[in-house]
Amino acid sequence: MRDDRFDGREQIGGYRITRRRLLQFCGAMAATLPLPLPYSERIAEALTSAPRPPLVWLEFQDCTGDTESFLRAGNPTIDDLLLQAISLNYHETIMVPAGVASERPLFDTVRSQRGQYICLIEGSIPAGSGGIFCTIRGRTALSIAQEVARDALAVIAVGTCACDGGLAAAAPNPTGALGVRRAIPGLANLVALPGCPANVENITATLVHYLTFGALPACDGEGRPRFAYGDKVHANCERRDHYEHHRFVLEWGDAGHRAGWCLKKMGCKGPDTRHNCPVVKWNQASSWPVGAGHGCVGCATAGFWDRLVPFYVQLSDDA
Ligand code: SF4
Repeated sequence: MRDDRFDGREQIGGYRITRRRLLQFCGAMAATLPLPLPYSERIAEALTSAPRPPLVWLEFQDCTGDTESFLRAGNPTIDDLLLQAISLNYHETIMVPAGVASERPLFDTVRSQRGQYICLIEGSIPAGSGGIFCTIRGRTALSIAQEVARDALAVIAVGTCACDGGLAAAAPNPTGALGVRRAIPGLANLVALPGCPANVENITATLVHYLTFGALPACDGEGRPRFAYGDKVHANCERRDHYEHHRFVLEWGDAGHRAGWCLKKMGCKGPDTRHNCPVVKWNQASSWPVGAGHGCVGCATAGFWDRLVPFYVQLSDDA
């Protein structure tokens, strides 16, 4: 099928995109990380020449939202670019093989490329009752995660469920759901990308950082990359000026709501939540929840299902 998005004469390094689009993407990645713009050339060099690291993506107690987010990359798309730069050896939702054959690439990678593959984990890991609440072909999620994560070059917990258990871990947590850090203590190279779902820009930027520098991005004490979780949502919110001038929405659809005023009194948890959501946004940076008129629910905050509810009630005056 003809692909109108690129002209074959400009195709670069086996990619299905033009050099111009590649550099646009690298510029956006440099801005997200954030790095000075000249680093975009270095990112482009890495993406077109660095060895492709193998990736395996595990899914346990989840809604597939992080996979959906990953596949929603649009500028360029995942298959345009990222799947050319990495080798995605195993991903239950999008791989072709089924049944017994589907497991071969996972354990072939684990056993033949020990210490060289990156393991992404989506979903919480149930540890209650010996882990029986999530099993794949008779093996518990906990036992699979332990085997795969133990020998990985790095483990990336994608989404809030993988970071702290998410919705499944909300009280009373009947399955004993845990995030990766608690389920598999002692992992040295663990990166946490909380969010419900994790933003594809941050998943991509984390991988691009590794491809470019051969190292994971700098993280805080909870393993969250500083580039994505260094600031609170409130710090970069487009409604911040209204907050400073005490212009608050008091009722859905009131004049303040229609004028784009601050949503704090409608329960916005932006002052309690660390995330670059207002900067990277969603759907090719077209909008984000607060931009669309809904308060931040704090989905990147550990335990938000228990700690930051009710969603539509102001919980504190602190910013
Ligand atoms: Fe934005 Fe929410 Fe902060 Fe208001 S409280 S400025 S809507 S993040």
